[in-house]
Amino acid sequence: MMCSVGDPFDFNMEGKLPVKHYICNDCGNKFKGIGKNVKCPSCQSSNVSESN
Ligand SMILES: [Zn+2]
Repeated sequence: MMCSVGDPFDFNMEGKLPVKHYICNDCGNKFKGIGKNVKCPSCQSSNVSESN
């Protein structure tokens, strides 16, 4: 998947990652997440979807 090094992708190393809105598919919690492996802060599930 992302094994190649030096391949530009949408990632910012300066601590200004884009914050996205997510909704948890398990408990319905809505929260803001940063990064690729977002977990629900309420139930720790990774079964979340982006919501706009
Ligand atoms: Zn949840």
